Amino acid sequence: PPPPSAPAGRLPGAGGGFSPYAGCKLFSQLPISRRTKDGLARKYTEMSEIQRASLPHSLCGRDILGAAKTGSGKTLAFIIPVIEKLYKARWGPEDGVGSIIISPTKELAGQLFEELKTVGKYHTLSAGLLVGGRKDVDAEKQRVNTLNILVCTPGRLLQHMDETPNFDCSQLQVLVLDEADRILDHGFREQVDAIISQIPRVRQTLLFSATQTKSVKDLARVSLKDPEYISVHAES
Ligand code: ADP
Ligand code: MG
Repeated sequence: PPPPSAPAGRLPGAGGGFSPYAGCKLFSQLPISRRTKDGLARKYTEMSEIQRASLPHSLCGRDILGAAKTGSGKTLAFIIPVIEKLYKARWGPEDGVGSIIISPTKELAGQLFEELKTVGKYHTLSAGLLVGGRKDVDAEKQRVNTLNILVCTPGRLLQHMDETPNFDCSQLQVLVLDEADRILDHGFREQVDAIISQIPRVRQTLLFSATQTKSVKDLARVSLKDPEYISVHAES
């Protein structure tokens, strides 16, 4: 692992932005809403390394390509900026889908949806878990246009894009790919390309995975803009 004084594995040539919040250790020190702080305080006090390294940048609206091993707390690293961005934009029921969070499996999507509920407890944003399985897709179609944050697997999201009348994500602010290396892998290639082609190009994009995605082609597919490259722990 890098020495503790190293600036959390920033790769040379990365965005290189300076943030006055770069030295923060506690969630309570971040420039975020009281509501989010209260949600976090139910479970969390100190930021993990990937959270400390990425939040000062993601909260400024920058694109992120973040890598940190499993269990290092990547979920909060994207849930917090998603909630804050929509809260600051005063997102409401009429605004529709403001963020899409894509996860490779139903189980992981379910876990991060729980985390979203914990952190978002004091917000009025609405969120839905859209994954395959037994759940009644027709009932889901009735609701999907009223949701602000969609947590989904690629297949189910695409199904809604294709089949749900008036499905609208033209106001999308933030796209998140959790386990981005898996989402960008060939297994999901066609689904992900179809999804990307249907969402606005101007948006914030947050990519997190256990390994650093090195393929420039893959990053171009999701049109990352001058991303902040953040890698903590030893490269795998
Ligand atoms: P990853 O996505 O990197 O595998 P998760 O986001 O799933 O990691 O987090 C792993 C575990 O660590 C979860 O149980 C989560 O509640 C916990 N966790 C995350 N961030 C913190 C934190 N700042 N302080 C304490 N526990 C945390
Ligand atoms: Mg995770």
